[in-house]
Amino acid sequence: MTTSALRPELDDLRTRVSGTVTGREEPGYDEARAVWNGMTDRRPWAVVRAAGVGDVVPAVTYAREHGLDLAVRGGGHNVAGNGVVDDGLVLDLGDVHAVSVDPAAATVRVEAGATLAHVDAATEPYGLVVPSGVVSSTGIAGLTLGGGVGWLTRPHGLAADNLVSVELVTADGRQITASETEHPDLFWALHGGGGNFGVVTAFTFRAHPHGPRLFAGNLVYRQDRWGRAWAALEEWTRDLPDAMTAITTTMTPPPIADMGDEPLLLVGFTWASADRATGEALVGRLRELAPPDEEEVGEMRWVEWQQAFDPVFPKGVRAYWRNTSFDRLDDEVIDVLVRRGAEQTWAGTGFDVHHMGGAFGRVPEEATPFPHRGARFWLNIYGFWSDPADDADRIAFVRGLSADMEPFATGGQYVNFQGLEPAGHRAFDPRAVFGPTKYERLVGVKRRYDPENLFHVNHNIPPG
Ligand code: FAD
Repeated sequence: MTTSALRPELDDLRTRVSGTVTGREEPGYDEARAVWNGMTDRRPWAVVRAAGVGDVVPAVTYAREHGLDLAVRGGGHNVAGNGVVDDGLVLDLGDVHAVSVDPAAATVRVEAGATLAHVDAATEPYGLVVPSGVVSSTGIAGLTLGGGVGWLTRPHGLAADNLVSVELVTADGRQITASETEHPDLFWALHGGGGNFGVVTAFTFRAHPHGPRLFAGNLVYRQDRWGRAWAALEEWTRDLPDAMTAITTTMTPPPIADMGDEPLLLVGFTWASADRATGEALVGRLRELAPPDEEEVGEMRWVEWQQAFDPVFPKGVRAYWRNTSFDRLDDEVIDVLVRRGAEQTWAGTGFDVHHMGGAFGRVPEEATPFPHRGARFWLNIYGFWSDPADDADRIAFVRGLSADMEPFATGGQYVNFQGLEPAGHRAFDPRAVFGPTKYERLVGVKRRYDPENLFHVNHNIPPG
């Protein structure tokens, strides 16, 4: 950032925006700066809680004119804590979350502060859905700009794959819309390139007929059946229809889940089709291959299923995450997953294996920045503990499993499942994440829309 001769004044900023401005030493400051990851303890100069889209241009202009680092916040879930910045300005869009549905066109316009819960609540009455993630308090903005992986990735692709257009404010304060026909290169970059190119004020998504009830649930395995369950998944996932998505989790559930205190393996699935009989038959096949100890399976409201894991991830828990793509689920990999799964005799870490492919896998690699479309599986290793005294152990667990999987990794890294890495320790390397060709294209877009790197509090793509 360049330093500026202008001295930032809270009262000056207050005259320019309609929303609330909270500075240091003012009531509500700690609440205003807090983000989801409780390990993030940054002290911005001020937080603007925008009252509406109209606050975005003045806040961006203020940060630029005064040489302030600018953090842009949607749902505040960023695992690396990028929704807040030391000594700079936070633009928090959390109150700007209107969602409007056009049922005839099957499109949904979503303001950038909306959470997944806001989007699901608005689309459910129309029997429509926008593919997103699996924890409903996550912000649609950060999720979509990084990609957006969830229960509907196989039938409908990433959240970003369903973008029709994106309205945003650029670093020089212009309000523009990016789509296939307007600013098409910028539109491409917004499919996984993160918050590097401007402040999004609204997304328009394609929606899909869905539910509102659907067949979903969890098959639950205790430790002595894990090896068989993983082997069954290897076989079962080979020829699944797109409508079936499975996310397999190993963790000791937290006490609120009321599932005992030993580590469990849960095969969660979503069948995104009205053809219940075929979904039942597919789950029956998995049961034959690996009989579960327990199960909770049936027809349920989509919005309930989308919120089922929310209580595990309350705001303020401590978190350090890593992820990798991989293709093999053979004995060597199963050995790692079983051994590391059993280490989790505590509640507070977990890991998910997402089965990919389907519509996600058919998008050509160069069509979006999102990396490694060909990966069969994606492993996300995560933390959700609460005592700082546990930091070292929990971080060591995440790093240990990540290191064990390195020989099998196919090179994919998903920025949204990426925690904060200390300096010098596996720092975010955009060239490696996106690959040289897509990286150069992203840099070109960055140079055109943000040559001074105003938007750098993110997984940054420097303009060079
Ligand atoms: P914020 O911290 O508000 O923002 C994150 C970053 O996004 C910002 O630093 C900024 O760079 C950018 N940004 C936010 N708003 C804007 C805007 N208006 N304009 C421009 N840039 C903006 N991801 C998945 O794909 N699938 C999941 O199922 C999933 N589950 C999750 C569950 C939990 C409990 C958590 C903590 C995260 C999960 N994630 C998931 C990861 C999530 O997608 C990322 O953490 C994402 O960054 C969160 O977006 P946010 O808007 O809530 O975060």
